[in-house]
Order: sequence, then C-alpha cells, then structure tokens
Amino acid sequence: MNTDIRCGHCGRKMAEGQYITLSIKCPRCRTLNHFKATSHPPAHQGVPNRTSPDANPSDHSLDRR
Ligand SMILES: [Zn+2]
Repeated sequence: MNTDIRCGHCGRKMAEGQYITLSIKCPRCRTLNHFKATSHPPAHQGVPNRTSPDANPSDHSLDRR
C-alpha cells in the first residue's frame, strides 16, 4: 500500500509510495522534509541467531539515537 508523502509545512502532496527514510524538498514552500518509516519489519529487531553479539555494537548505537 502506498503512503501519501506530504509537506509538513504547507501540506502539499509531493509523492506517493513507500519509503524507509526520505528527504524531499517541497516545490511550493521549499521546506526540506525528512521522513522516516515508523514500522519496521520484525525480522530486523530481534534476531536470535547471532554468531557474535558484539560484532558491530557501534552500528546498533547509531541506529538507536
Ligand atoms: Zn511545502
């Protein structure tokens, strides 16, 4: 299903589709909008089969800020 991507400032519909993260500039009011998908696929959250838990801890802390 597609999501309406609207400008947070003037409400103009700029695009439609699916995204994980998106930066888009409104052509009308020139506000730069940053969007981030709130729903994650559950496969990425709790992976039980980790070979080494601290393989990349910095990658995790970057993701959680
Ligand atoms: Zn706008």
